[in-house]
Amino acid sequence: MGKTVGIDLGTTNSEVAIVEAGQARVLPDPDGDLMLPSCVGFSDTGKLLVGRAALRQYAAAPDRTVRSIKRWMGTDHQTTLRIGGIESDETRTFLPHEISAMILRALKQRAEATLGEEVTQAVITVPAYFTDAQRQATKIAGEIAGLEVLQIINEPTAAALAYDVRSEETEQVLVYDLGGGTFDVSVVEITGAVTEVLASHGNNQLGGDDFDRRLQLHLADQFRQTHGVAVPDDPATQARLLRAAEQIKVTLSSHAFAPVQEAFLGSKGKTALHLETEISRSDFEALIRPLLEETLEAIDRALSDAKLQPVDLDRIILVGGSTRIPLVQQMVADHLGQAPVDGVQPDLCVALGAALQAGVLVGEAVDAILVDVIPHSLGISAAMSTPMGIMPGFFSVIIPRNSVVPVSRSEVYSTLSPNQTAVEIEIFQGENEVAEENVPLGSYRVEGLPPGPPGSIKIEVHFDFDLSGILTVTTTEKGKGQQGTLVVNNAGIQRLSSHELKQARLDLEALFVSDEAIATLDADQAENPADPELAVLIDQAQQTLETLEGEQAKELQDLLDQLQDALAEGEANTISELQAELSDFLYYVTSNTP
Ligand code: AMP
Repeated sequence: MGKTVGIDLGTTNSEVAIVEAGQARVLPDPDGDLMLPSCVGFSDTGKLLVGRAALRQYAAAPDRTVRSIKRWMGTDHQTTLRIGGIESDETRTFLPHEISAMILRALKQRAEATLGEEVTQAVITVPAYFTDAQRQATKIAGEIAGLEVLQIINEPTAAALAYDVRSEETEQVLVYDLGGGTFDVSVVEITGAVTEVLASHGNNQLGGDDFDRRLQLHLADQFRQTHGVAVPDDPATQARLLRAAEQIKVTLSSHAFAPVQEAFLGSKGKTALHLETEISRSDFEALIRPLLEETLEAIDRALSDAKLQPVDLDRIILVGGSTRIPLVQQMVADHLGQAPVDGVQPDLCVALGAALQAGVLVGEAVDAILVDVIPHSLGISAAMSTPMGIMPGFFSVIIPRNSVVPVSRSEVYSTLSPNQTAVEIEIFQGENEVAEENVPLGSYRVEGLPPGPPGSIKIEVHFDFDLSGILTVTTTEKGKGQQGTLVVNNAGIQRLSSHELKQARLDLEALFVSDEAIATLDADQAENPADPELAVLIDQAQQTLETLEGEQAKELQDLLDQLQDALAEGEANTISELQAELSDFLYYVTSNTP
């Protein structure tokens, strides 16, 4: 039996952690990096890149790279990636869970390299607000990556588990989790080692990526005001602007102003245009404030569901990279009349909590027990009696939102028409009274009912929601005991057959053929940016230099000279910066040369 790990599969970054001797720790890559950017791509030689190596090429090669795939989990959104260099027209298309499987596979590999043992099982976290389809897709991704997924748990719950405040008194804790692509707020109750989620709310389409995009638009506006022309709309230039926006955002978390220096962002005739300006923290805050207001509304809803007032909260925990933004901390503190606690690493506590839960499940001596809740009400479409008579299409809730899992509940329904011999059981999740306004999870027909007058046939619908968030629906016709069962795997993501799973694993393994190559590529680049990619870039630059003249030739020669100096001195940071600059420059001249 291999090792069991906890995985935070994040929108922006992912981490893998393990429990040893009752203590959880996040496992680093060979360079000590605890985070793996949730980014996947193909190098210009067609090699699979996962993590920092993929992220590094994102701005220069957005058509070969994908980020923030988590936003698409549970859908059939297709990502087409180019395999190979500019001349290559070979592409491959992936589903979101296939991309996530690559990230999970890289984390498994990282853990195995660090531990020197095989890793076979995992607990994976998802936002509390993830739908059943999104959870299912996450589980499938884990299976394709070669992991038995013991449980899918909610991120804020994991964070609370990791938060080592174990007082004897019962504490009400609010977990505010703002990451790269998702927002969650949960109210949890911690009593000794038991963590129970009382309520949770959120928006799985809100996070740091949105702040980056707002800032990107703002930068584009400034460029247009300065130069009277728009920033070119091609993906590579826009990706550069987005990357600049993220860097500025991070700088503004610790500085009041951030300089913007993006050379060769566009052109007017033969003149190259640059963006050189400064963004103040207050400008940035004005851009994101409306988005943060939405998160405060979600706090109020979660508190109201938990039947608590802000004063009832014993502490507030911030989770996710975006909570490093001072305005986030300030708005949460002002809204709740209490400052969030310090001392937890907002980026790591979810993975640590997942590892603790993994430890509990495999019987390690871990001081934590998890009680989780379902994030959405589950029920079926049914007719109801209204002042206007009996109306169909109402949402009849069988398991209400925030019920503690695992949970089983039944309701009994009757037939509507005389001699009705069949009923359609349509299952939904959501909070709207009208069934169709909620998320459909699946449907099936119960047939062969005995004829009789309206209301004479009683059908019991039983919902069974397990620890991994999988719903099994069973219907029983009360008279005859006739049964029908449906395991809900919805929204186009079907459970893979064992043959399909085997095939998906083989496909993934084929991409990971040179396992070591991926690990060392990541490691080498961090340690010594003079990697093969840089060699190719320098080669390209030298060839381009021969085709240029005047100011551009001088600029390029200058860059190459500086890079040679930095390489001679072994200045890793300068090399990285110059590499990025050189790549931007080459992109600019090649895309602006007729
Ligand atoms: P997570 O999903 O928790 O890994 O959070 C990632 C998000 O946090 C990304 O949008 C990052 O840009 C953002 N982030 C990380 N560090 C900071 C920082 N110091 N200030 C602002 N945002 C940050």
